[in-house]
Amino acid sequence: MIDQVTPETIRLLGGRLCLDFVNSVDWSPSGEPLGAELDALRDPPWLTRWGRRVGLVAGAGARNPGAGELRKAHELRAAVHAILSAVADGERPDPEDLTTLARHHARAATEAVLARGDGGWQLSWASRDPRLVRFEAAVDAVALLADAAALARLRRCPGRNCGWLFLDTSGRRRWCSMQTCGSREKMRRLRERAKADRRDGRDAARRTAPRSDRAPV
Ligand SMILES: [Zn+2]
Repeated sequence: MIDQVTPETIRLLGGRLCLDFVNSVDWSPSGEPLGAELDALRDPPWLTRWGRRVGLVAGAGARNPGAGELRKAHELRAAVHAILSAVADGERPDPEDLTTLARHHARAATEAVLARGDGGWQLSWASRDPRLVRFEAAVDAVALLADAAALARLRRCPGRNCGWLFLDTSGRRRWCSMQTCGSREKMRRLRERAKADRRDGRDAARRTAPRSDRAPV
């Protein structure tokens, strides 16, 4: 929610990888990504930079993705955003979006090896693989969809032209961030209240003033 985001400055507020992945851009109410200047994944090499930011890419030697990989990442991002937005709203996701996610997930699984991680065995790819960010995001999105407890905490920020998704772990979180959408909403409400107060003041003045607007009899 700041101008000219980069992979290094974009805020990570989602609470898990696939949510930060969809939050790498702002979304219109109809689910379209809003403008390249708001996109932390707007150039192919930015995928690698973002992967480094979130700890997927470590060390040197990562191969930079090409334009085709960026296109696929954007396709996956839009599908995951649409699916999880529907789930957050208690609606059924579009089957086409589910198919898109399943396709990326299948590709990721085909290209993976099983490796021992911190908590157990997991799908894994070489850290220099230019498809790494997309594969990790697809696998994490499917894992989130399989996790009923996490899904129950999934929220979409109601801020105007935000559309960011996050996990409400406190049970009270409404906004992606109080510093951006939350404070903007507060300002909007204050402005509306001030306007209503002025209107009430005018109405009161009118009620006490002699009536000059009486219709002729
Ligand atoms: Zn927001």
